[in-house]
Amino acid sequence: MNDTAILPSYLVGSWQSGTGDGAEVKDAVTGETVCRVSSAGLDIAAAVEHARTVGAPALAALTFHERAGIVKQLALALSERKAELYELSARAGATARDAGVDVDGGFGTALVFSSLARKGLPDATVVAEDEFIGLGKEGSFGGRHLLTTPRGGVAVQINAFNFPVWGMLEKLAPALIAGVPNIVKPATPTAYIAQRAVEIMLESGALPEGALQLVCGSIPGLFDQLGGQDHVGFTGSAATAARLRGDAAVTQRSLHLNVEADSLNASVLGPDATPDSPEFGLFVKGLVTEMTVKAGQKCTAIRRALVPAAQLEAVTEAASAALGKVVVGAPGAEGVRMGALVGTEQRDDVRAAADRLAAAGRLVFGDPQQVAVVGADADRGAFLSPLLISADPQQVAPHEVEAFGPVSTLLPYADPADVVPILARGQGSLAGSVVSHDPDFVREVVLGAASHHGRILVLDRDCAAESTGHGIPMPQLVHGGPGRAGGGEEEGGLRAVHAHLHRTAVQGSPTALAMLAGEDVPA
Ligand code: NAP
Repeated sequence: MNDTAILPSYLVGSWQSGTGDGAEVKDAVTGETVCRVSSAGLDIAAAVEHARTVGAPALAALTFHERAGIVKQLALALSERKAELYELSARAGATARDAGVDVDGGFGTALVFSSLARKGLPDATVVAEDEFIGLGKEGSFGGRHLLTTPRGGVAVQINAFNFPVWGMLEKLAPALIAGVPNIVKPATPTAYIAQRAVEIMLESGALPEGALQLVCGSIPGLFDQLGGQDHVGFTGSAATAARLRGDAAVTQRSLHLNVEADSLNASVLGPDATPDSPEFGLFVKGLVTEMTVKAGQKCTAIRRALVPAAQLEAVTEAASAALGKVVVGAPGAEGVRMGALVGTEQRDDVRAAADRLAAAGRLVFGDPQQVAVVGADADRGAFLSPLLISADPQQVAPHEVEAFGPVSTLLPYADPADVVPILARGQGSLAGSVVSHDPDFVREVVLGAASHHGRILVLDRDCAAESTGHGIPMPQLVHGGPGRAGGGEEEGGLRAVHAHLHRTAVQGSPTALAMLAGEDVPA
């Protein structure tokens, strides 16, 4: 890729570049230009038509198992060439550990979907969701719910900058298995990573033409092409989500829009924990990990850390000591554990949000304006120190301000009965953790806060060794959250495939319905 070239998009069977200057994307570490992103002049309507008329019929001709086989080939191709994606991810500030979460997390998720589909879906094109439901006295008439691939439907995915590979794969895999062609629109700051991943998948030769297209840059007019057979999976800020929700495609034509937005996720240390209990150490480790992996640019990262008031000082000390050991700098440089934010604009946004949080309490670790950096120039790269704030849970800012970086707020609670109401002030979150070995406390918090959360981790000495951690969504389990988190649902095993299929209640005789479900019918 030429340093100043426009990043190509893949539309209607060929790589094409938008025109004009485009948006400049800079290296997060050095500040050098990586590429320019523009979709000006690209025929997006033609891409939708291509997906409907070429991609959709090609996929519809295959069974769930055949499509799952394609997804497996894509995942293996990405796995074989993951070094290329790691190299590009480093330009976005990601350490090898960060790139692993995105890249290996992405193809790993696709492999899980492929396996689940081959085990849990028929080698056919229709899913019968239930057995015969009798609706007459004699049993000759009833109904069944059949799931079918939308005719000519298109899945459009609009992704956030922080997971260019995982964010794409967790949407792409279930849509392809469902038989729906995809148009991917990556976020501009990391579009060059998504573009390479798409290139690798196309080069694998596994995909039928029209099954995967890519638009780098904005997508004016795309929603005008979409309607009731189509699906948009959006991940990003609540502000952009609100705009998309108001589009006529959604309000008038019933376009299915799934929103994964931002979230002020919490982790709660139980009142049973003391500095010498395993749960205390697990809580602090989880907090520090969530603050520093991907420099805190994870939608699931712990933004609010609730601790018993009696342990506030001990937690502050332990977390500060651990954060003090985190070396910040260029990915790959000696000892570096935390890389850069995606860009200096993002860093400035995070600094401003951290200032608002600090104004509601006090900064107990880090300096928003200064950070020691290894292997890079601190002024040219988008580096930021981890920042830990301590605040009264009655303040508004910790429950409203998302600092999308290595920032978290400690909130002391005096009475365990206050925990659920404090959690609810986040207005709906993707992920929560309860770190406790006290069954009564765990029950009270999990059941009390469940309706405000998409996922809750109960972390204790019994499961810690195998736990996947607070911030990692697993493809087998639902990812999403109510309220502020967007109200959407992704992953969750085969639920994600079903979300792309159309459910129709079909009525008739048991024989007719069994025949439609693809089951053996006695002659
Ligand atoms: P963003 O600014 O809302 O952008 C998200 C995506 O929307 C980008 O691809 C962006 O493209 C696109 N977009 C912007 N305006 C649009 C419009 N008018 N029409 C169609 N698309 C439009 O969010 P971000 O800064 O990339 O991501 C950070 C946010 O995402 C954080 O708040 C984070 O919490 C959230 N997030 C949530 C999840 C989750 O699973 N819930 C996961 C990751 C991130 P351009 O980049 O080209 O503008």
